[in-house]
Amino acid sequence: MKEYLVKPKKDFSLKKFDAGDTSLAKDGESAAKKELKDLRKKLIKLQQVLYAENKHKLLIVLQAMDSGGKDGTIRSIFKGVNPQGVKVASFKVPTELELSHDYLWRIHSKVPAKGEIVIFNRSHYEDVLVVRVHELVPQEIWMKRYQQINAFERLLVQEGTTILKFFLYISKDEQKRRFMERIEDPEKQWKFNPNDIEERQYWDAYMGAYQDVLEKTSTPQAPWYVIPANHNWYRDLVISRIIVSRLKELKMAYPQPVENIEQYLEILNKS
Ligand code: ADP
Repeated sequence: MKEYLVKPKKDFSLKKFDAGDTSLAKDGESAAKKELKDLRKKLIKLQQVLYAENKHKLLIVLQAMDSGGKDGTIRSIFKGVNPQGVKVASFKVPTELELSHDYLWRIHSKVPAKGEIVIFNRSHYEDVLVVRVHELVPQEIWMKRYQQINAFERLLVQEGTTILKFFLYISKDEQKRRFMERIEDPEKQWKFNPNDIEERQYWDAYMGAYQDVLEKTSTPQAPWYVIPANHNWYRDLVISRIIVSRLKELKMAYPQPVENIEQYLEILNKS
């Protein structure tokens, strides 16, 4: 999956990515959907061991423009995974209490514990995205945050967390199509928020802010991937491949059973 990895310390240009790309699914959509089913089975098994071993922690960060598909990704990739041990943390406009602390305060309290997978639906990156685009804090404050975020993530990794960060990249045209669908389809109307249309006008400013995020905060320990996300099936396939292969690298194993476990069979038989 090197294709979509943002290589640390290399020249990076978001403009070179194609949101409609499907080039890693050579056999087309239906083959991809089959592969996704297979990957789900693998993920279910890997999560079971992660939970049982109670050693590793996995943090998955999802960022996207409005209608970018964060919710759909979570639904599709984690279908069938044991909800015990998997959590979703969604970060909305900060409350007064949250704003009275530093911006990482609410984030740190939600990171995974041993044996857990946590998916961030939005994240601390909002503090260098929406906050920057709308100048919610002065530049001299948000400018320092890239370094702070890298240091924070380094701490998490050094303490045993595996971090994967995905930017679900849709095109501006695709966003328009999705908003129109939301307006027209009665089952999707609940998702429509007039504010999203307002936000759409800041598209270029957001792309500039994402360019900086990806360039400055993709590190060897906590890499960013730019996921072509115009096609949901492709997005799900690529993200699943990355998560499954990263979990395999952890070489997880079930804990050793209690000593002489067989003797308990005999005791049970007699009971
Ligand atoms: P979502 O779009 O994630 O499904 P909402 O429609 O409730 O959920 O949107 C959440 C909103 O919260 C987004 O507009 C996002 O930019 C905003 N938000 C998240 N974190 C922050 C933050 N730190 N500061 C300001 N706004 C934030």
